[in-house]
Amino acid sequence: MPSYKAPLREYRFLLHEAFNMSQYSELPGFRDAPLDVVDAILDEAAKLAEEVLQPLNQVGDREGCKLANGVVTTPSGFKEAYKTLVEGGWPALVADSAFGGQGLPNALGVLFNEMVSSSNMAFGMYPGLSHGAYSALLHHGTDEQRAMYLPKLVTGEWTGTMNLTEPHCGTDLGLLRTRAVPNGDGSFAITGTKIFISAGEHDLADNILHLVLARTEGAPAGIKGISLFIVPKFLVKEDGSLGERNGVSCGALEHKMGIHGNATCVLNYDGAKGWLVGEENKGMRAMFTMMNEARLGVGLQGLSQSEAAYQNALAYAKDRLQGRSLTGPKEADKPADPLLVHPDVRRMLLNAKAFNEGARALLVWTALHGDLSHASDDAKAREFGDDMMALLTPVVKGYLTDRGFANAVEAQQVYGGHGYIEENGLSQFVRDARIAMIYEGANGVQALDLVGRKLAQNGGRGVFGFFKLIDDFVAANTNAKTESFMNALVAARKDLEAATLWFMENALQNPDNAGAGSFDYLQLFGVTSIAFMWAMMAKTAAEKLASGNGDKGFYEAKLKTARYYFERVVPETATHLARIRVGAAPLMDFSADEF
Ligand SMILES: Cc1cc2nc3c(=O)[nH]c(=O)nc-3n(C[C@H](O)[C@H](O)[C@H](O)COP(=O)(O)OP(=O)(O)OC[C@H]3O[C@@H](n4cnc5c(N)ncnc54)[C@H](O)[C@@H]3O)c2cc1C
Repeated sequence: MPSYKAPLREYRFLLHEAFNMSQYSELPGFRDAPLDVVDAILDEAAKLAEEVLQPLNQVGDREGCKLANGVVTTPSGFKEAYKTLVEGGWPALVADSAFGGQGLPNALGVLFNEMVSSSNMAFGMYPGLSHGAYSALLHHGTDEQRAMYLPKLVTGEWTGTMNLTEPHCGTDLGLLRTRAVPNGDGSFAITGTKIFISAGEHDLADNILHLVLARTEGAPAGIKGISLFIVPKFLVKEDGSLGERNGVSCGALEHKMGIHGNATCVLNYDGAKGWLVGEENKGMRAMFTMMNEARLGVGLQGLSQSEAAYQNALAYAKDRLQGRSLTGPKEADKPADPLLVHPDVRRMLLNAKAFNEGARALLVWTALHGDLSHASDDAKAREFGDDMMALLTPVVKGYLTDRGFANAVEAQQVYGGHGYIEENGLSQFVRDARIAMIYEGANGVQALDLVGRKLAQNGGRGVFGFFKLIDDFVAANTNAKTESFMNALVAARKDLEAATLWFMENALQNPDNAGAGSFDYLQLFGVTSIAFMWAMMAKTAAEKLASGNGDKGFYEAKLKTARYYFERVVPETATHLARIRVGAAPLMDFSADEF
């Protein structure tokens, strides 16, 4: 049976020490969350994750969701767990206080979400998607829509979905066909079929608010003719009570590789009543609010499965006796040494450990900059926060899910054949992690977004601002104790800058050069930004050790993990740069017949 323990000491290290969150204590949101309160919240959240959600993870995987007569039933225990989540007020954690939320920063919210997702990723998607719907309505809905829908999303009494995908239209949303025809009373009749809709129908909440992309009559072709609509499962009366059932129904549940506890639905819209959210034909703008938030949430899913798989693989490697250490027996009184003595087993575990701690730091740092982009009283800091969010969103989504999956596979490898057996749970981590690389914009598309849009945004202000931040940090913090880390960070940053300049020189003349190098660029960006996080964490750990802080073992392990990251992972930046520099020819010189 797999287990999960929330890494609370790691959270405290990031919030209290490495990022010193108390420096923001005067800003809105942060003001309501002094660090002792934050610690208490995280402790309570850990109990929810460990005691309520984790025990249901394998249940959800085994049972899956069921559809009978149009009604979807979630796995045993999910309904009660969702009730516990709602009664605990958790969906309100980072929501706006004007609608009943607690208004806490997202930098805290991502840690809550990590715990939920590590303990039960499929379950976590129900509240996760609701929060995305909440954000789209908060930023683009009318006052009336906000008043009608947001308080119920904030309490979790109602949930939300996002409906983009259609059978013939996935990445290329310009192809979508779902139609919206005015009813003459301000509402529209929505007709079409959406597929793969997560949490599209279930028995956890009284109502489901579907956010649906559709075309109005005479709308321009392609992406410019798409509008966003809100389509409630049950129509909502003026007094807020629920009215008749709307014309949207679940036609089928997808049978899929993982996240069995989450209902992935074919939704049929048959003249369902919907209302425009935001301006007509500007639906993609509104949907992007939801998608950007969801992308951080999906990156977090990659980390969450890597963390859960790592914890179990580590326990297994300490317990399972197999073979002897290459340098002679380490536990001579036993018939064999534990797996942990073998360098190759350590390689797999340390790949995950160094990633988990660094990726978590990147996630919190990115979310923090998103928070500052709203909350800071300094216009420059708001602009910088915005730039970092925009730049790093595809990196967090793409890199954290690619590596998260790879780490889940390596954790499975630590178990040998026992990792392939369902009851040990490793197979589920691998299967669940896989989807995060695909949905919310497949990772290849994230890489194109990074290279094609984010680099050039505002004349490169974001990426060059990021380089300057690293340079300033290195200049201010290099000393005898940190020098080796800083040098490795500088080398990675140089490779990233060289790749960035190469694209600037070579992508315009041949756009395939951008497409051919984009995967490697996203990996290079991921490694470098996590190296930056490790440099910050190593600096903090070195200072704590020098100050004689009592938690010596923790800081020493931090420095050793930093060393692993800088010496074993960071050198791969050179390979990515070399691949980028060869350009498109090795890929594009093939004709279709030559494959
Ligand atoms: C379990 C599950 C849950 C989902 N949940 C939702 C949901 O809640 N709401 C929703 O709307 N959708 C959802 N999806 C759909 C998901 O977002 C899409 O599957 C995804 O966006 C990819 O679209 P596609 O499957 O049509 O693949 P395609 O668009 O056909 O792409 C196939 C491959 O080609 C690559 N590719 C496509 N175009 C390009 C390009 N221009 N350049 C480079 N590479 C390209 C892609 O990266 C991908 O690897 C879900 C899917 C699954 C499986």
